[in-house]
Amino acid sequence: MIDLPSPNHDERPAGIAVDMLILHYTGMRTGQAAIDRLRSEAAKVSSHYVVEEDGAIFRLVPEQRRAWHAGVSFWRGREALNGSCIGIEIVNPGHEFGYRDFPALQMAAVCDLCLEILSRHPIPARNVVGHSDVAPDRKEDPGEKFDWEGLARNGVGLWPHDMPDLGFGGAARDEVRDAASLRPVRAALATIGYRIVPEGPLDPGLSIVLRAFQRHWRPEAITGQADAGTLARLLAVASLADGP
Ligand SMILES: [Zn+2]
Repeated sequence: MIDLPSPNHDERPAGIAVDMLILHYTGMRTGQAAIDRLRSEAAKVSSHYVVEEDGAIFRLVPEQRRAWHAGVSFWRGREALNGSCIGIEIVNPGHEFGYRDFPALQMAAVCDLCLEILSRHPIPARNVVGHSDVAPDRKEDPGEKFDWEGLARNGVGLWPHDMPDLGFGGAARDEVRDAASLRPVRAALATIGYRIVPEGPLDPGLSIVLRAFQRHWRPEAITGQADAGTLARLLAVASLADGP
């Protein structure tokens, strides 16, 4: 762990406990460029940690302080999530500059770091999410190449096991568009944590949220459609996320 302090942080709001972990990719050409930006006073952005592709971990902001990475955000009824969360930036050029696989060494470092954070704070598995989950209309990170399933296997975040293999070729045939058929889809997305209106046909807003869900929990096909496979995965994740 290497300390590279950033000036971009402030006090967490009074009475707010840390109970979320938000994962990002850096989305810049190099890790160094991202670290420079996260430490630039002018940029006014930061994260608690940065994980390089070789597995090196940098600490930019102390966990007890609020880092500035989520922006306008929503999860499980709450907004302005920076106040209650810890943010990790994972080096990857992202969709804009050549999205590539996250190396195994990097994923192992991310996993170890998350486990350490989870040992220090009461963060439920359903509150370990991606930037795209809390800001689906603006963000795609850390994206569909990120190994959420592997993390969950190690105790970080939610993943439904024992899911039947439904394939993903049926999107066009099985897609669901009308308001009545979409009711369970909207309900499941809301239970998991997404901001969703309870009723309506397949509109662009719902498609964007379905894409965010697929990036995290059904990365085989990011279609924005409520096909049968997506619905099955949705209901499975929602049943894991449900509860007070
Ligand atoms: Zn991000």
